[in-house]
Amino acid sequence: MKTLIFAEFQNGQVKKGALELLTAAKNAGGETKVLALGPGAAEAMGTLQGWGLQAALCCNDDKLKDYNPELYTAAVASVIEKEKPEVVLASSSMLARDLFPRVAARTGSGCVSDCTELNFSGSELSVRRPLYSGKCTAAVNFTNCETKIVLMRANQLPVEQVSGDAPAVESIELPPVDLKTTVKEVAKGESQKLDLTEANIIVSGGRGMRGAEHFELLENLADKIGATVGASRAVVDAGWVAHSMQVGQTGKTVAPSLYIAAGISGAIQHLAGMSGSKVIVAINKDADAPIFQKSTYGIVGDAFEVLPKLTEELGAMMD
Ligand code: FAD
Repeated sequence: MKTLIFAEFQNGQVKKGALELLTAAKNAGGETKVLALGPGAAEAMGTLQGWGLQAALCCNDDKLKDYNPELYTAAVASVIEKEKPEVVLASSSMLARDLFPRVAARTGSGCVSDCTELNFSGSELSVRRPLYSGKCTAAVNFTNCETKIVLMRANQLPVEQVSGDAPAVESIELPPVDLKTTVKEVAKGESQKLDLTEANIIVSGGRGMRGAEHFELLENLADKIGATVGASRAVVDAGWVAHSMQVGQTGKTVAPSLYIAAGISGAIQHLAGMSGSKVIVAINKDADAPIFQKSTYGIVGDAFEVLPKLTEELGAMMD
């Protein structure tokens, strides 16, 4: 199988979601190339030692510094047209979910986003993706397309440790594009933490936290255990925290190893975004809160008492 992996990177590091895809492609066998766009792409891909990659196709062009759908679509589509991969794998990030439907339309490829399972069987590929807020999953096969594009949710696949040679980096040119839009500025959020979609541990707060000022309790716990803080929509709508922190149907879909939900009732729209978490711990003073039905562990209690104790105990374990 000929596979192309679209690898996102940050601060010179390849994101974990891309490493998961590299592992899947390595285990499936065949020829794998990686594609990375933006300043620093070649340097970041140079760190991918031992993955048995045929090449790292990189475009370091400054014009790709900030995501512009027109430029990115042109760049990725031109690589697909030249390389003719049977499979393109990317993490189902915000960027990829915006980019790849455009690429699919441009190249006549099939595209399935938000997948949670990826199965290679010889030259066949099938995926699964949740539907109706996670109430069921659909098995999807590709038909009638030369290139199959799969966007996988992060934290669904293992990452194997590898060692060996770095891939040969091939520079690719940005095709000429008659731009209809330009990105003038991207204002970064304040958080230095991992994005929710990549975080391995998430501590989320809901309306039960009673106010923005009490999110400090969640931040303290998150700092101790290396977590990212998330939130329910109720608190985002109340203006306590930024929308980028919202987990759920109209927020981010996450699948960390550990999801701690404090003062969150467990509405279906919230569960839609986090029920793929491996271990769910709910803290709620209402023993009948629906979140407990989805939790691995439940703590019936006041978050204002439980969170400081958890921070102390887990902090001591981490020290
Ligand atoms: P509540 O439902 O008010 O729950 C607060 C919980 O805190 C209660 O269970 C209470 O027992 C508990 N509590 C109170 N005090 C304490 C305390 N001291 N200690 C411990 N527990 C305490 N919601 C999302 O989260 N994400 C989405 O993406 C999303 N998308 C939506 C899309 C649509 C189209 C619609 C209609 C709704 C959407 N919602 C979403 C909203 C969702 O339906 C709920 O309203 C929301 O999730 C409720 O947030 P909450 O659990 O924080 O608040």
